[in-house]
This record gives sequence, structure tokens and C-alpha cells, in this order.
Amino acid sequence: KLQGIGSGKEEKILVLVRLRPLSEKEIARSEVADWECINPTTILYRNSLQERSGLPTAYSFDRVFRGDCTTREIYDEGTKDIALSVVGGINSTIFAYGQTSSGKTYTMNGITEYAVADIYDYILRHEERAFALKFSAMEIYNEVVRDLLSTDNTPLRLMDDPEKGTIIEKLTEETLRDRNHLKELLSICAAQRQIGETLLNETSSRSHQILRLTIESSAREFLGKGNSTTLAASVNFVDLAGSERASQALSVGQRLKEGCHINRSLLTLGTVIRKLSKGRQGHVNYRDSKLTRILQPALGGNARTAIICNLNPTRSHVDQSRNTLLFASCAK
Ligand code: ADP
Ligand code: MG
Repeated sequence: KLQGIGSGKEEKILVLVRLRPLSEKEIARSEVADWECINPTTILYRNSLQERSGLPTAYSFDRVFRGDCTTREIYDEGTKDIALSVVGGINSTIFAYGQTSSGKTYTMNGITEYAVADIYDYILRHEERAFALKFSAMEIYNEVVRDLLSTDNTPLRLMDDPEKGTIIEKLTEETLRDRNHLKELLSICAAQRQIGETLLNETSSRSHQILRLTIESSAREFLGKGNSTTLAASVNFVDLAGSERASQALSVGQRLKEGCHINRSLLTLGTVIRKLSKGRQGHVNYRDSKLTRILQPALGGNARTAIICNLNPTRSHVDQSRNTLLFASCAK
């Protein structure tokens, strides 16, 4: 299903950092924000106590976005090209990474909405090709994959297909009629995610959500003539679990195993991304988690990938923010 044609070169992972503004509650609690974006690529931690601690104060990435930037700006400058590459047959993935309440869902919802609108605009402007859009959605919690378009809570099995690679057995794939159909499906996903949370007595902080839009197209003039080539690719919008658990797991050594189980997918994603950012020499451990197995065709190689690392701006969350920037630095 995911046989993207590729862009012909190894793509570097685009690493973006987004600082969210202080919320009204945080302002009411007199929380302080010490982070400052001093130019379009550098974010600085400005706090005299920390400066004396010897920890780094400046971090550089492909692009950093201040608290007053809109999701539209981030989308236009950072992820639009990556999302739209799907219409040309190139697989892509856009991740939101960060601790709980850093703004992942807020960011990813906006990005998904803008990307879908642009993909539809593109299709309407290219009548010479016939397009088919398919949508599927899943959630990974504790290495169990659930279908977010089905009320059946049975875990989905991953199977290996010699031609198609990893396939997700019984995953619902809806063929989209129009934009409104997709809106309906997105609200079903949100409701299903809510039900899952209630059943598990958990918040979404421990689960990963993957929304996948698959686009197939062929030139109309060749349709039905037997020699038409179909382009097919997927764009994945991934709202990751809160990164606080993975970093806790890493920091306490002895409990590493437990932490791995809590979020094996997040830890494996970290090692996969580190490998990919170093030019993919040697073995990449895609198979070590459900998340990386599912996303393998849309990660590394010819696929295009962006990671938006979200930061809680408050001084009280500085350690988690530094962990997020450490992850971001390993990805670039
Ligand atoms: P996460 O998904 O990382 O747990 P959320 O996206 O739910 O975090 O964001 C936490 C809260 O902060 C939400 O109430 C959200 O609406 C708000 N928020 C996040 N980012 C922004 C932003 N850039 N501007 C305004 N409000 C934001
Ligand atoms: Mg969230």
C-alpha cells in the first residue's frame, strides 16, 4: 500500500521546536517563562541560576517558533511541503513530540486541518489526474494497537506481507467522499479515543495516535487503457504519548524495563530517529516497537519526516523541556 516513489535522495529529518505561550492559569499562579527564541533557529534558556549550573543555554534547530506564533505559520514554514509531498507519491510523517500539556494535540490538530485543506485544493486544481483518498486511524497504548474508526476494541494484529511490508489486520480504511466526510471521521476518532481513556482510566498522555491519509492517483488519459501508472502514498499525522515517561524511564536505570514496557514505542522511535539522522548506516531497529513498524515505510529513506518538539515554557518544567530539546538535538 505504501509504495511511495521517493524523492530520489535520502531525506534529512526536519526538526522544529514550538514554545507554547503561558496559559492564563499559569499566569495566575505567577509561573515564569525563561525560554526565549532569539532568532528563527535558536532558542535560549535565560535564567541566571541555570547559567551557573553549566548546562547548555542555547539550542539550535531547523526552525524555532515563539509562543506567539500561530499553527498556520508553523504549518506554512515547516510542514506544508512535507504533507503535500504525498500527492506526488512520497510517503511522509509529521510528529508532535513533548511532555503532557506542552501543546502536541493543539499543534497536530491544526496541522492536520491545514494539510487536508491543501490536499483537497491540489486535487481540485489537477483534473488531469483521478484521485482516491483513504483514511484510517489508530491508537497505540502499551504496545496494543486499536482501530479508532471502529467500536470494536479488539487489539489489531500486525502481519508481515512479503510485498506490502507490515500490514495492520482488519484496520478500517474509509474511502473519503469529500472534506466533510473526513471531518465526520475525525470526530469519530476523537470520541473513540475518549472512550479508550475512560475504559483504561487514563488520559491520552500514554497513547500514540496515528491518523493516516492515503492518496492514490492516476492520469485520466491512461485510465482503463492498461498502461496507467498509479501513484500511491500516505501522510501520517502522529500525536505522540507524553515524553515524560520515556525520559523518566531512561533516568532511573533500574526501572528501565518497566519504562520500556510503558512506552517501548516512544523509546524505539528515539533510537530509530537517532540512527536515521546519522545517515542510516547499519541496522535500524524498526521492528522493536509497534509504532516504528507501522510507520517504517514513511520514515527514513525516501520518505519525508518532520518532528515538532513542543515545549512547556514554565521554569517549573525546565527539566522536561531540556529532555525534549535533547531528543530534538539527536534528531537533527
Ligand atoms: P498535549 O497534547 O501536549 O498534552 P495540549 O495540546 O492539550 O497538550 O495543550 C495543553 C493546553 O494548552 C490546551 O488547553 C491547549 O489548548 C493549550 N495550548 C497549547 N498550545 C497552545 C498555543 N500555541 N496557543 C494557545 N494555547 C495552547
Ligand atoms: Mg494531547
